[in-house]
Amino acid sequence: MTLSIVVPCYNEEGSVLLFYEKITEILATSMETWEITPEFIFVDDGSVDSTAATLKNLAAKDSRVRYIIFSRNFGKEAALLAGLKKALRGGGGELIITMDADLQDPPALIPPMLQAVDSGKFDCAGSRRITRKGEPPVRSFFARSFYRLMKKISDIEIVDNARDFRLMNRAYLDAVLLLDERNRFSKGIFPWVGFRVKWFEYENIQRVTGETKWSFWRLFLYSLDGIIAFSSKPLAIASLLGVIIFTLSFLFIAFIIIRKIIFGDPVDGWASTICAILFCSGIQLFTTGILGQYLAKTYTEVKRRPHYIIREEL
Ligand code: UDP
Ligand code: MG
Repeated sequence: MTLSIVVPCYNEEGSVLLFYEKITEILATSMETWEITPEFIFVDDGSVDSTAATLKNLAAKDSRVRYIIFSRNFGKEAALLAGLKKALRGGGGELIITMDADLQDPPALIPPMLQAVDSGKFDCAGSRRITRKGEPPVRSFFARSFYRLMKKISDIEIVDNARDFRLMNRAYLDAVLLLDERNRFSKGIFPWVGFRVKWFEYENIQRVTGETKWSFWRLFLYSLDGIIAFSSKPLAIASLLGVIIFTLSFLFIAFIIIRKIIFGDPVDGWASTICAILFCSGIQLFTTGILGQYLAKTYTEVKRRPHYIIREEL
């Protein structure tokens, strides 16, 4: 059975070799039990350091190593997609693993994950962090809030702190690749396809070298992508706000008419008029903004640009 290990790499010159060694070591022990032929699929996501050169060297030494080099940075989601598609093209891809290059995904979990999927009881083995040790508290707080919000507003079953460290069988991969959207949000796409998933939990591990590529702002935008891709509730909220304000304004009009009949019409109320105008225009901008977000995403979808451009591959 072939096992394709798909690894997105962006400026990982320090981690790639460490990763390769560690995984080879783990596989050497589990291969006997499962008769597995592993292959590495590294995707260089437009790194500006020597990651690409390192990958080529590695491929020259070990024929199990294949790579894709992007023409520029297209983001982790694109890199994952390219790797997954390559796993299929190569004729292998009976079992597929996606892992980060920085060894934050514990390789020791691979054998139990293999066992879960190989037994036929599960189609996918997923992993989630049960702690966020070593992470800035503000980031953890926002991450928790994001998961809470996502659970409320989306129809899919989003698992807390799920990582992009998964082992899946061919049927599962085929299903994932059916989702050909440009606005890719793995945390939503994988649960969306369903199947039988076994979850493995582990404590957070710091990356071996280098630093995280996800700034707070990038994560924030990514979470907005996720919300827009997997929920249309914000649009419903916009309409609901409209209905509420419409009803309130009717009540207010009735109040003004009655006041006029009973007390006459003293000309005052500049302050309340301004407040009402500001309030309503604020709500209008807010809801148009929500609409705009969906429109923008629709725009990128209809352009149907490729997810990524490959400069070189092996
Ligand atoms: N990555 C990538 N393209 C990017 C950003 C990240 O391919 O634009 C890769 C990166 O090399 C790593 C994985 O995605 O293998 C996870 O990135 P990182 O470790 O920076 O994220 P974190 O673990 O902090 O969430
Ligand atoms: Mg990492």
